[in-house]
Amino acid sequence: MSYVDEVYERVVRENPAEAEFHQAVREVLDSLRPVIEENEEAYRRDAVLERLVNPERQIKFRVPWIDDKGQVQVNTGYRVQFNSAIGPYKGGLRLHPSVNLGIIKFLGFEQIFKNSLTGLPLGGGKGGSDFDPKGKSDREVMAFCQSFMTELYKYIGADTDVPAGDIGTGAREIGYMFGQYKRLRGVFEGVLTGKGLSFGGSLARTEATGYGLLYITEEMLKCNGHDMAGKVVTVSGSGNVATYAIQKAQQLGAKVVTCSDSNGWVYDPDGIDVAALKEIKEVNRQRLTEYKKYRPNSEYHEGRGVWQIPCDIALPCATQNELFLEDAKQLVANGAIAVCEGANMPTTADATEYLLEHGIYFLPGKASNAGGVATSALEMTQNSERIAWSFDEVDAKLKSIMVNLFHSIDDAAKRWGKEGNYMVGANIAGFEKVVDAMNRQGIV
Ligand code: NDP
Repeated sequence: MSYVDEVYERVVRENPAEAEFHQAVREVLDSLRPVIEENEEAYRRDAVLERLVNPERQIKFRVPWIDDKGQVQVNTGYRVQFNSAIGPYKGGLRLHPSVNLGIIKFLGFEQIFKNSLTGLPLGGGKGGSDFDPKGKSDREVMAFCQSFMTELYKYIGADTDVPAGDIGTGAREIGYMFGQYKRLRGVFEGVLTGKGLSFGGSLARTEATGYGLLYITEEMLKCNGHDMAGKVVTVSGSGNVATYAIQKAQQLGAKVVTCSDSNGWVYDPDGIDVAALKEIKEVNRQRLTEYKKYRPNSEYHEGRGVWQIPCDIALPCATQNELFLEDAKQLVANGAIAVCEGANMPTTADATEYLLEHGIYFLPGKASNAGGVATSALEMTQNSERIAWSFDEVDAKLKSIMVNLFHSIDDAAKRWGKEGNYMVGANIAGFEKVVDAMNRQGIV
């Protein structure tokens, strides 16, 4: 049996019931096959893949907090510190009822390669909890965040592990967590990114993942003889990534006609009204059913359905495994030319395969949503230097990082005989830097 298959089997055996983690490992290892086969003896001897797929450390803890009725609630907290070969652990904190160890491990594993692709010195990690901030009062969210940080602070720090936001963790949650960390440690340091502007946050961090997704999509289209202007775009999600992806796509001259949340989706043939979306989601924290009040010509549908709408470019920006094989078939049948992932692993493995087989340009999340973590790294730099750059400075750096990132994955795909397969290119380019650092640091 090949080394890749042996390691994959071991991952499945030793990490039962962690389907998303298996899926992420499978995709990466399959892409790495040619690289591994060329160096198989040395990689086997040094157990490179076994070390890559085993987190350096995984922490699981109890998070007790008191709700508004005086009832004690107990959630589970996680931090997986996956790989620190090229820098301190970095990756978001997800607060969503679906969170379990397997989800955090899949996200942490992906983060290793994503962070490497940014070209910045960042290791891979991820964390979160099965706490659901939806429908909780501000006081309840604060009580949870303080309890969560009361355990997490032991394991993180500006030079060791720097968490950020993710699903369910926005500016409010990061603020409460930062306050508690500062109180417990007695130091004011850049231990979290996505902070408020008044206490060390970076301009353009809020916009970064969505904007970055459009910068890399634009570069990919340009290099393949297409233009963003005039394209019809479908987007899923209506959170941080989706909102700013829609905004930047519109600035680049595209028309975005959909968005969604976990209950339903909106079709607005005249183009999504971003100001209305922000008011509904960011200010009032409401559901998308409200959108029709702002735009009477739009349609609201319960359930899933975004990928049925004909488009040139699809941007899945909600969550993992939200674009299935039947959606991929529909997109191809409707004449789409590109699928670029804003979320982490939103496209299922069989859907990805179908898209690639049918000549769709496909950008995997670990490349196309790396603008968020890249700008988090820019926030860390500003915190270390105790300065604050302007919006335009940060935005220009973000754009240059995303353009370079595209060329590094394009180049890796070409070097390994897989021209145009940006998934393989991203996995190989991300791996090359990490494995070089691991090899030079000895068996640790
Ligand atoms: P938000 O919490 O701001 O928004 C998430 C959106 O996705 C919401 O519209 C939410 O709907 C929807 N959603 C979440 N879970 C599900 C589900 N199970 N089924 C259907 N819809 C769902 O998160 P972000 O925008 O920050 O993150 C979105 C994705 O992007 C995630 O995969 C995240 O890991 C990834 N990402 C985020 C980065 C960032 O900087 N924020 C950076 C890189 C990647 P509802 O409100 O109903 O829950």
